[in-house]
Amino acid sequence: MGVLTEIALMVDKLPTWAAPKPVGKNILTLTDEVYIHHEPLGVVLVIGAWNYPFVLVMQPLIGAIAAGNAVVIKPSEISENTAKLLAELLPQYIDKDLYPVINGGVPETTELLKQRFDHIFYTGNSQVGKIVMEAAAKHLTPVTLELGGKSPCYIDKDCDIDIACRRVTWGKYMNCGQTCIAPDYILCEQSIQNKVVENIKKTLKEFHGEDIKKSPDYERIVNKHHFKRLIRLLDGQKIAFGGETDEATCFIAPTVLTDVSPDSRIMQEEIFGPLLPIVTVKSPDEAIQFINQREKPLALYLFANDKKMIKRMISETSSGGVTANDVLMHFTLPDLPFGGVGYSGMGAYHGRHSFETFTHRRSCLIKSLKMESANAIRYPPNSKKKVDWAKFILLKRFNKGRMGLIALALLGVILAAVIKVAYS
Ligand code: NAD
Repeated sequence: MGVLTEIALMVDKLPTWAAPKPVGKNILTLTDEVYIHHEPLGVVLVIGAWNYPFVLVMQPLIGAIAAGNAVVIKPSEISENTAKLLAELLPQYIDKDLYPVINGGVPETTELLKQRFDHIFYTGNSQVGKIVMEAAAKHLTPVTLELGGKSPCYIDKDCDIDIACRRVTWGKYMNCGQTCIAPDYILCEQSIQNKVVENIKKTLKEFHGEDIKKSPDYERIVNKHHFKRLIRLLDGQKIAFGGETDEATCFIAPTVLTDVSPDSRIMQEEIFGPLLPIVTVKSPDEAIQFINQREKPLALYLFANDKKMIKRMISETSSGGVTANDVLMHFTLPDLPFGGVGYSGMGAYHGRHSFETFTHRRSCLIKSLKMESANAIRYPPNSKKKVDWAKFILLKRFNKGRMGLIALALLGVILAAVIKVAYS
């Protein structure tokens, strides 16, 4: 649905977005044509990740095509069935020479990265993000890096904990926790920790029934490598509930960990799985401090009744995006730029932001060859008089209303006449 919405939006808005955009003028350019022209960057490389393997390729692809680029598409080899499907389907619908799909693993991606592109759009982890950026730097190619990180979720003691936990449970365990903007861990005061645990447990039962292993709506870990990585994160942790695993089917039950130490391993790396640590803090201020002491996350979630407190927490922290009193939902609005900041990425996309990401905004000024006398002020020889005139012209602010524009036009005509007399 996200992909279809994005296509519909592009079809609808593209004529407006792509049209030349007239901009403000100063007195020296009053009669000129001044506008921003949107031009394609050229050839874009889109590298996708495995966790939403279709959407993470299609969303940037739509933006890059809308902006007029050719696109080399590199789906993630980890979700190999979707990669194959993309290679099979896309050439049936879009030009295979303009939008080729290249499938393969690290060697193929490494080879691709040696080529010169006009933009690289990468979704994946920060380590590979560095490799992509290094390769791009060799050709001075701009990059968009859609990375991950540990997205905190603060639950204030003054909020409807039942509703907060329903929403957190949905966002955390969707796709078995393998969502880049899933809440990575909960921050809350000790006094509500048990209530949070009980509510998550209750919600899981409501969503998936008594035996979650049998639920058709609960997914599995993508492969054995990630399964083992997640099991290692459980070492030494206090499991409040969950913790059941089955290596053969890559099953890990939704798990909540309590009283987790900020220094433990699970708090050092992005979890990207159905394990939810709770770290207790003494106050909202301590939560802010905790968030600010770590890398800037891709998303931040805040649950509280007090809107003023939410606004304060937003202004005193930083993250790619924020949703308050819910999770994930900022992702669904195409008017909101989706992307990270600092270690969670650079650049953004979705809707108009995709169009802008894959576009060069070219500054255009078209003058006429008339009114040369008005230019005398900028040609040598220089003089104090010329500088004073220049200051008057360039530093003075004119009211941009209708009267202001008429006054500006009149002033321009007078000025041209004065300059003509003064310097002829
Ligand atoms: P992945 O393993 O699928 O890798 C992503 C891409 O990088 C693949 O196409 C792969 O071929 C390529 N790649 C891997 N190793 C490489 C190397 N050494 N050299 C060159 N290319 C290489 O995905 P992943 O990194 O495991 O994805 C999970 C990460 O992505 C998480 O951190 C998650 O938060 C993040 N993510 C971010 C977003 C977002 O929109 N910001 C979305 C999804 C996932």
